[in-house]
Amino acid sequence: MIQDIFPHVFNNGYHPRPIEEGDLLLCFQGDRLLLREVGEGSALPSLSELKAAYPALNENAANYLFSIDKIGFFAMSGDELAEKPGFCLRDAAIFREFEPAHLAFGGITAVQIWRWMENHRFCGHCGAELCPSQSERALRCPDCGLTEYPRINPAVIVAVTDGDRILLARGKNSPPGRYSLIAGFVEVGETPEDTARREVMEEAGLRVRKLRYFRSQPWSFSDTLLFGLVCELDGPDEPSVNLSELSEAAWFHRAKVPLGQSLISLTQTMIRAFAEGTLP
Ligand SMILES: [Zn+2]
Repeated sequence: MIQDIFPHVFNNGYHPRPIEEGDLLLCFQGDRLLLREVGEGSALPSLSELKAAYPALNENAANYLFSIDKIGFFAMSGDELAEKPGFCLRDAAIFREFEPAHLAFGGITAVQIWRWMENHRFCGHCGAELCPSQSERALRCPDCGLTEYPRINPAVIVAVTDGDRILLARGKNSPPGRYSLIAGFVEVGETPEDTARREVMEEAGLRVRKLRYFRSQPWSFSDTLLFGLVCELDGPDEPSVNLSELSEAAWFHRAKVPLGQSLISLTQTMIRAFAEGTLP
């Protein structure tokens, strides 16, 4: 999955430091970021590469985010940096198919933190401008003391099984043939298991039992922390599809499960594990 970057090491402890020439610097314009063009693909630019192309770059505005191995990831606004030969603006979705894989994880994780910083520039209580904390990954209000932590939304991915069958769903905006699993956000007051039971009933009209944990995944594309749960059908097996959420929900035999190419997501990892007989 996207977070599995071994032998590389994600160092998430918050120890801010000034940016160095070899660190990676992500410069954002709204939802897009400036990448270095490399052949047909793109790469995360280092500070030295950016300074060579943009001599007026103000590196003092770079915010420390985290590091992978010894390489620091920094982010700043890049509103004044125009595209030029060798540098292009790209949407964050590029990290769904990006090499090397450990920098894809670093890139989308940086996007999530920057998106949070950009969306929390002012205190929601008193309106003063928030300042980065020096001691933890947080934004603090200098006037009233409110502290904002990065936004992480818990959600569940649910594999509903019935013997050699698994329930696959297609979101209302997904193209034909692109299947996923029942999924939904954890609501206030719920455990992930409560959410799984509620979402399967709301989206497919089915009861489930014997919920158990599979794996989890930070999914920064949507600011979520995903909990993968497996359960068994309990009762009638005919799905009643909620058309405001799904366009389709159907049972697939283990031998006929459509498998996606990429295993960066927990969803595809769970579907493949069912097909291979390794779901718990
Ligand atoms: Zn305040």
